[in-house]
Amino acid sequence: MGADKTSTSRVNPLRDLKRITQTDQEVVWHPYTQMTEYAAQDPLIFQRGQGSYLYDVRKRRFLDAYGSMWCNVWGHCHPELVAAIQGQAARLCHSSLFSATHDQAIDFAYKLVEYIKLDYRFAHDPVTLNHVFFSDNGSTAVEAAMKMALQYQNQVGQIKRQQFLVFEGSYHGDTVGAMSAGSIDVFKRKFNSVMFTVHRAPYPMQVDPDERPDNWRTAERSMEAQIAGLSDRLAAVIIEPVIQGASGMVPLAEDYLARVKKYCAEYGILVIHDEVFTGFCRTGPLIAASPELVEPDILCLGKGITGGTLPLAVTVATDRVFDAFKGEWSEMKQLMHGHTYSGNPIACAAASKNLDMIEEHKLAGIVKQRSRELSILLRQHVQKHPAVGPIRQRGLAVGIPIKNAKGQDGYEARDDAIKVVNACIEKRVLLRPLGNVITICPPLNIEHEGLEEIVHALADSLKALG
Ligand SMILES: *Cc1c(COP(=O)(O)O)cnc(C)c1O
Repeated sequence: MGADKTSTSRVNPLRDLKRITQTDQEVVWHPYTQMTEYAAQDPLIFQRGQGSYLYDVRKRRFLDAYGSMWCNVWGHCHPELVAAIQGQAARLCHSSLFSATHDQAIDFAYKLVEYIKLDYRFAHDPVTLNHVFFSDNGSTAVEAAMKMALQYQNQVGQIKRQQFLVFEGSYHGDTVGAMSAGSIDVFKRKFNSVMFTVHRAPYPMQVDPDERPDNWRTAERSMEAQIAGLSDRLAAVIIEPVIQGASGMVPLAEDYLARVKKYCAEYGILVIHDEVFTGFCRTGPLIAASPELVEPDILCLGKGITGGTLPLAVTVATDRVFDAFKGEWSEMKQLMHGHTYSGNPIACAAASKNLDMIEEHKLAGIVKQRSRELSILLRQHVQKHPAVGPIRQRGLAVGIPIKNAKGQDGYEARDDAIKVVNACIEKRVLLRPLGNVITICPPLNIEHEGLEEIVHALADSLKALG
């Protein structure tokens, strides 16, 4: 089809702001967004990103304090990542991993497996997370993990093991399987008819990194009793190590993860770690569970995997899991899962470069330092406000609960948090609430000045509450 001048001008609405705004409202359906409310406001229309900042069509500069939905590692358009993406795009944009391969998948998978081992180098037993299964978003990484677990149990002859145990407050994604494993009611309510039943154990929150909550023993006993009671029916337990993101930044009690693993190992139940949010240094280390030396049977990674540039996710399995899928074609033991763009080469090239940079720039150390700085700033300027509950933080993942005037909390009690967030956006700092919790998840290489900018905007905006 030739380029026809009149039709080009008709379908190219990027002429004036009013037109762009109107076109956006007409044709773009935004996720988790009440479109009526959205249409009543002037939208933020971004055009360009550099470092920790996004620039909109009005040439205004905003600090991306929520890391473009928690996935940004190196700020926007980091030249090394851009060069890796451009270089790969010029060589090979896409070819499939179905019974074939490409150099970028091999390169990234090899490095990832090595880096995971390095992270777990003090583990008691050799770590065998050696098998990288590619998909293209966090939900499908979890979905693949769940299918992997079910198919594994079937193929090792444990055909009664068909159920999952998850945790209160869990979030594992928005596809139907991952949603079934989730525990946030408002996300699921309208879809109950197609969801399968899962079992739920407590996820004891520990606000202070140095002080275990009183209820953790009770929680542990309840979790142990459930695992024991369901021991012949559970295929796997799925848990978010260190901190739950979507439930409003809920840090997990120390040692709990090790106990989950211990009880599962006793009964031959697989452990799935969903590190889609925590992985890639969000809490400090590459793999958040590695300092606790707890190795899962299956590990899900996403979000920061490409540094926040392109969609990619992986489900990494141990030798034991992988080996149960070997056999003759006719036995049909091959993993029954795959996506058209699984392991896209451009995304893999970005992910490889991200890993190189994490090592070269010692990102884990940077996050540790920035995380300390942010914690001090929050204590000085935000925590003391009477509407602010105990601030929860692990690495550069922060949740600030805003006490609702009506004493409500959770997803539906967001009015005050929204007020504060909107005031921050007016000060050119992009934040997002999760219900009544304001979350901060900046690019991991943010400068100290960026952290100051966030905290001062927040402290100022709390005045919106009166
Ligand atoms: C974001 C997230 C997912 C889902 O990832 P998507 O890429 O949004 O599908 C799954 N698990 C956790 C813990 C997450 O934070």
